[in-house]
Amino acid sequence: MTKENLNPFAIAQAQLDEAADVLQLDPHMHAFLREPMREFHFTIPVRMDDDTTQTFQGFRVQYNDARGPAKGGIRFHPDETIDTVRALAAWMTWKTAVSDIPLGGGKGGVICDPRKMTQDELERLSRGYMRNIARYVGITQDVPAPDVNTNPRIMAWMLDEYETITGRREPGVITGKPLELGGSAGRTPATAMGGLFTIREAAKLKSLNLEGATTAVQGYGNVGSYAHILGQKQFGLKVVAVSDEYGGIYNANGLDCDVVLEHQRKTGKVIDCPGTDNISNEELLELEVDILIPGAIENQLTLKNADSVKAKIVAELANGPTTPEADNILNDKGIYIIPDFLCNAGGVIVSYFEMVQNGYQYYWDESMVHQRLDKKITTAFQAVNHMSQSKNVDTRVAAYLVAVNRVANAVRLRGWV
Ligand code: NAD
Repeated sequence: MTKENLNPFAIAQAQLDEAADVLQLDPHMHAFLREPMREFHFTIPVRMDDDTTQTFQGFRVQYNDARGPAKGGIRFHPDETIDTVRALAAWMTWKTAVSDIPLGGGKGGVICDPRKMTQDELERLSRGYMRNIARYVGITQDVPAPDVNTNPRIMAWMLDEYETITGRREPGVITGKPLELGGSAGRTPATAMGGLFTIREAAKLKSLNLEGATTAVQGYGNVGSYAHILGQKQFGLKVVAVSDEYGGIYNANGLDCDVVLEHQRKTGKVIDCPGTDNISNEELLELEVDILIPGAIENQLTLKNADSVKAKIVAELANGPTTPEADNILNDKGIYIIPDFLCNAGGVIVSYFEMVQNGYQYYWDESMVHQRLDKKITTAFQAVNHMSQSKNVDTRVAAYLVAVNRVANAVRLRGWV
């Protein structure tokens, strides 16, 4: 079996290369879009609770800001690498473009293990991160947000640090904030909600009735747990399997989200939930289901297992869950893939709504937010599907064609290339 290159940035570049080829993109434009425009690498010394000082490595990548200020989350993860941050920043660029919101793409990260840190240590790390990037972010430059292992609490510390440094209130500098500090209603479930709107559209194309459609969800954090809750309660999906990093659970009759959430709250895991059978993450991905939602981390569908995937629709709520080789296999099998930067665009779309609301200091209710999200993401879905049909390319290439065209046009209009 050929060995796959699992470096996320190499994958992001390979995906762009394929789209550039179909688009017959000018080679100079292609070369420009293959690399991040700006990167910041820095160390963050943090005073730990035992009075020692630990030094953490932080990154912020502003991949492309031709269409507007860079936008993208900050991850805290022990396995964070600059190439992961670059890949995620590239995908943010294509995500904001495919969603047609006036923003560019960025991403940040810190190599750390938040599970081994106290709240006080996390606060000092979050403030230290912001001290390093404060000069380079702002509503006209770059707007961070939460991602894996960061949350509204952490955004509040970062916002406060930024506003302390600048001496003025500027809530739009960061999104995913608590409601009390200018967060948007409906932001926390937005990524899953947006993904479910795209699943609804894909189901129409596959003549699949969502009511009772069997679904497996990998990952039970923000994205995965809300995919279960909203999928079950608002879209009528029958979620038969869910998992987290410790393993998964299965019940052919469906898993009740309230029971699983309560079990996870008590034990910190989904395994051993009453009334379910434990399964592995590998088994979950290969289940006979209508809809498979990878909602955890990168590189889950690979050469090793793609041929065993049996779902009709793969909805990539996680970033980068499918390798290019696996992508080809899934497409050959006729599986409808909703590519990550379209499927999970709900988070950044509502982050953009948060910036808009912060700008005019007037706030919408959750139903208004989700109604506007539906309109934006459904329009994006239709643009991608139309591109896929008219150019006879798979959905991921189609999403790239829509996005790269828009970014390249902005770059050209600015006279950069
Ligand atoms: P999270 O930290 O809240 O949850 C991650 C979940 O994945 C946890 O349940 C964890 O146990 C699980 N997990 C980790 N490693 C795993 C493994 N090897 N196998 C199975 N499960 C594993 O993160 P999140 O915010 O839910 O993000 C999940 C994915 O969605 C990421 O790829 C992220 O980049 C993407 N995403 C998130 C948002 C957002 O708004 N939160 C927006 C767009 C994309």
